[in-house]
Amino acid sequence: MLDLKVINGTLVIPGTGMVRAGVGCKDGKIVLIADEAVLPDAASTVDAAGKYVIPGVIDPHCHLGIYTGDFAYETEHETRAALAGGVTTVGVFMGGGESYLGQLPGVIDSINAKSSTDIFLHLAMFTPQQLDEIPQYVNDFGVLDFKFYMAGVRGVFPNVSDAHILDGLRRMGSISDKLTGCVHCEDQSIVDMGFDALACEYGESGGGDLCEWAKAGPYEAEELAVIRACYLARITGTKLYIVHMSSEPGIIAAAEHRPDNLFVETTSPYLSLTKNDPAGLMAKMLPPIKDECDREALWEGVIEDVVDSFGTDNTPLTAKIKAAEAGMLGALAGYPVIQTHLPVLLHEGVNTRGIPLETIVEKACANPAKIFELYPQKGTIAVGSDADLVVVDLDKERVVKAEEFYSFADFSLWEGRKLRGWPVVTIKGGVVAVEDNQIKVEPGIGKYLPRSI
Ligand SMILES: [Zn+2]
Repeated sequence: MLDLKVINGTLVIPGTGMVRAGVGCKDGKIVLIADEAVLPDAASTVDAAGKYVIPGVIDPHCHLGIYTGDFAYETEHETRAALAGGVTTVGVFMGGGESYLGQLPGVIDSINAKSSTDIFLHLAMFTPQQLDEIPQYVNDFGVLDFKFYMAGVRGVFPNVSDAHILDGLRRMGSISDKLTGCVHCEDQSIVDMGFDALACEYGESGGGDLCEWAKAGPYEAEELAVIRACYLARITGTKLYIVHMSSEPGIIAAAEHRPDNLFVETTSPYLSLTKNDPAGLMAKMLPPIKDECDREALWEGVIEDVVDSFGTDNTPLTAKIKAAEAGMLGALAGYPVIQTHLPVLLHEGVNTRGIPLETIVEKACANPAKIFELYPQKGTIAVGSDADLVVVDLDKERVVKAEEFYSFADFSLWEGRKLRGWPVVTIKGGVVAVEDNQIKVEPGIGKYLPRSI
């Protein structure tokens, strides 16, 4: 007897394509993929007739605890938002100048107690001491990814030198080819040039808007940094993952210079919004959201396979903390976007631009799992994989209302807009976790995902 079966849907299996079959789950795993006629009885059944069944979405790029300072609180709320949006696994970036050895046990305890999705961790590397501790992060905590900021986040994180990145990537490569460097690709000095000009013009008046804010991320900053990242990946041979690509010149530079061990992520906000968006400064981000030509170049990068992976850069905060009324320079960067991640990809990608659902699934599920060494436990529909599945209704239309979402944040960039294409059932570990936006499981169903080399 199965715990759960999903019947009558069309499976989207990465690398295989569309398959008309049922899925049987037991003890949290997929145990059978077969014609419904031969699937055994199950304690519960999900009927996916007329809909698609995709692997649970992996958001490899999320921040928790940045603005409230409360990691456990944000983990509890944001992973419920994730689950309701069809995201069953989340990669969380931790940052800070201290050793992570002391805080990791507590962070992992919080995840196991509070999370509704599975979570894996990436650690930002700012100091030589942190680089020295990479073997311990790998062996004792199962962390395989380490992030480098070519440009810092003003007032939050400093940038690091290319020498520091080179040193880090070489050390990582000497441990295992499963380790991945993640890099924020903007040149610090060019970002400073853009920011200083804005500060000069707006510093006293407190004005400016989202359109002006785009100047804080000059094209040359991303383009130059991408070329440097491609070079560093090439000479070290270590896997390198460019986070949140935001511009046309960045995509073109990656297409031209990337070695095989370099991967490119963009985010669902960059694939859907422009600097003229009515969300205004609520959409302030680093790197800034840019122009329509950039958004379309990112989609072209998806089609041409320059973009490997979709993330969110979810950085939740309330409108009060965001403080858009403080103006372009005073408002904080970040937004809650994890529950709209999959709907935005389906609406903008499949339903608006005719991108095949298989392509979305490859970059939202399979590729992040492969890059971050979670495949085939995660990211696919296969016998032996975790039973994380999402039933998707490509025709379902829903108007976004932040008050119906599960983030502790109280706004959405898509507020009042109708999106077409939504997850209708989320299955996590063989359990129906969300049905029609109603969460049926308690915090703690998600677990920390240590990885091994
Ligand atoms: Zn980020």
